[in-house]
Amino acid sequence: MKRKIPVLIFSILIIFMCSLWEYNVGYKNYTDRAMDVDAENGTEIEQPEKKTAYITFDDGPSVLTEKILDILEKNGVRATFFLIGNQINDNTRPIVARLIKDGNQIGAHTYSHEAQKIYADADSYYNDIMQAEKTIIQNTGIVPLVYRFPWGSSNGYIKPYRKEIIRRLALRGLSYCDWNVSGEDSVGHPVASQIIANVKANYSKYNEPVILLHDSAGNKATVEALPEIISMYKEAGYDFGTISQRSKIYQWKLD
Ligand SMILES: [Zn+2]
Repeated sequence: MKRKIPVLIFSILIIFMCSLWEYNVGYKNYTDRAMDVDAENGTEIEQPEKKTAYITFDDGPSVLTEKILDILEKNGVRATFFLIGNQINDNTRPIVARLIKDGNQIGAHTYSHEAQKIYADADSYYNDIMQAEKTIIQNTGIVPLVYRFPWGSSNGYIKPYRKEIIRRLALRGLSYCDWNVSGEDSVGHPVASQIIANVKANYSKYNEPVILLHDSAGNKATVEALPEIISMYKEAGYDFGTISQRSKIYQWKLD
């Protein structure tokens, strides 16, 4: 018995080290890809031939998330949701659980989404994302790989310290994701036909479009527009995927 204990401890140590190695290798591959930015003015230099659409929803979970999930499920489509941490609570936890169970991906958007608070300085934004990440992990058991800056990575608030926060969050295994097609559904109160037209204006430019839509309580028109947006891409020969399945993460070229 006495001899077995050191062997047991040794085995556990080896298993633990292997899992750490695997985690780090997986993370490194992902961030290497993420750093390989070749997007310029919204047009990527190289595009894979296979056409895959990446629908993304910011600002959820909300009272509309289940309706969005029903539409996605009905159409066999998976999407990516960039969540607001302080909207994950006892009421919305089951919705987020379904979202994951359905095969959708989650990313961190922000904890509070209050521009003055989150973008006060580099530490404020870093802490906000860390708080969002912690909430996501506590409520779902999933560590998000991606985050999305409110107003995108080129927003004016973060210009002086953009590089610093991108670097600090990359060290945590987090990559940011922008978009190249927008439904413009958080600008004013567009009706469904306008959101469809906004997507249509750019939808076939890219073989791997990353489409920005919103999932806040006020985005009823987005829910109405979603079936047609999906049909539009299907008819044009696109499959659908979640953001980590893209050939590389989509990031705007920054100065
Ligand atoms: Zn947002």
